[in-house]
Amino acid sequence: MPQAYIATGAHAAFSWGAWALWLKLLTVGATLALTAVLVVLTLSLYQRCDQYAPTAVHFTVANFFAAAYIVADTTVIIAMTLARDDVVQTAYRAAIAVLPLALAAYFFVYRCMRQDGWPSRRLLVACYSLGLGGAILPWVDSPYLIVASEQLTITRANIFLDYGAGAGPFFAACLAVFAVVSYRILRHAPARKSTGISLVTGFGFAVFILCGIHDALRELGLSLLPLDTLALAGVLFQTFACAVMVWHYSLTLGEQRSHHAQLRSVTDRANRDALSGLYNRCYFEEYMSRAGAQARGGLLFVDLDHFKTINDDYGHITGDRLIKTVAGCMCEATRERDVVCRWGGDEFVVLLELGAESEHTHPAIERLVRALDQTRLDGLDGLKLSASMGYAEFENGQWREALDRADAALYEAKRGGRCRVQIAC
Ligand code: GH3
Ligand code: MG
Repeated sequence: MPQAYIATGAHAAFSWGAWALWLKLLTVGATLALTAVLVVLTLSLYQRCDQYAPTAVHFTVANFFAAAYIVADTTVIIAMTLARDDVVQTAYRAAIAVLPLALAAYFFVYRCMRQDGWPSRRLLVACYSLGLGGAILPWVDSPYLIVASEQLTITRANIFLDYGAGAGPFFAACLAVFAVVSYRILRHAPARKSTGISLVTGFGFAVFILCGIHDALRELGLSLLPLDTLALAGVLFQTFACAVMVWHYSLTLGEQRSHHAQLRSVTDRANRDALSGLYNRCYFEEYMSRAGAQARGGLLFVDLDHFKTINDDYGHITGDRLIKTVAGCMCEATRERDVVCRWGGDEFVVLLELGAESEHTHPAIERLVRALDQTRLDGLDGLKLSASMGYAEFENGQWREALDRADAALYEAKRGGRCRVQIAC
């Protein structure tokens, strides 16, 4: 390229004002940072199997190409000021080349949104091949294609490649694809109840159209702003997209948290006995089975004495109150690592963790006996409660067999006169 072009180019670049160049550099920094943020957010949505993950992935790919456009566009200006004619050519052609690739990704944003999932591999290959075909065109010099020769045209407002006859239809086709896809996304987004996607598309569409009109007028000599604005539009679009994605992400996080809380409360309800709030038999058996073949511990089978009589004398409501009070006392008297369960009716089973010495469980049993002995119901001081207990220890996960022994010991305690603890041998 003749040196005169470079000199004029450098002059033109400086005449637009150094601030315009700095603004361009700023857009490059911003677009790289925003693309990084989008990548992180998209990966996070992908990992969480979010329903919008496929849309976000293609949206980020489209943004990646948009960032490549902004970098290439700014490189053209910098290369001009540095008189690097070869770089001007390469960067200019690269800026054009990424457009069909960005549009292919943009098309998949719509596809993913419509299908609510990943597009087929065949369609991906077909569309990206088409985009790649479009991306190759600017590198082939021909008067019938996009770029006719290596000549550059420099005006006060901008620098232009020597466009071929195919340039007009190429840019028109890009614009048409962008408009059609944007329109379809805008039409489809409300059906998906996605305000975020509607906002991003509507905003991006409006900004790109306005900036496109501005840049077209500028190239015709009617300059409203002293710089072309397409790169700025890209950054604005990315900023807005990031904001909407963060918004969607925080909404998803909130939803997920409340979903987890609901799940926890449902699971908790399923695992617990409704009256006493203790673990139920089903949970206890599952817990013991999960403990595995190495599990060891002590099992205390507790049965309230003459509970039927209490029900008969004081009524079932009082009986219920007593079960709740007994449950509270048992929880207080046991250690955090012990598991208290309502086996059913007036029967309770407590898993006592064994220390290095099995005698360590005896103080725990004594505490339980004392607690039950002291159990009183408000307003019913005459109601005296007692319980019989059977205790057995197990090793190597043999808890079922130990439970049978504890049950047999409990039966012994009942037969022996109640209100006592029988240790199984
Ligand atoms: P024993 O000393 O031999 O254990 O005599 P008992 O009267 O306690 O007899 P048993 O343990 O066989 O009967 C338990 C009674 O507990 C039977 C039932 O009326 C009562 N019961 C079971 N579940 C509930 C409940 O949820 N609420 C109330 N109020 N009573 C219950
Ligand atoms: Mg009983």
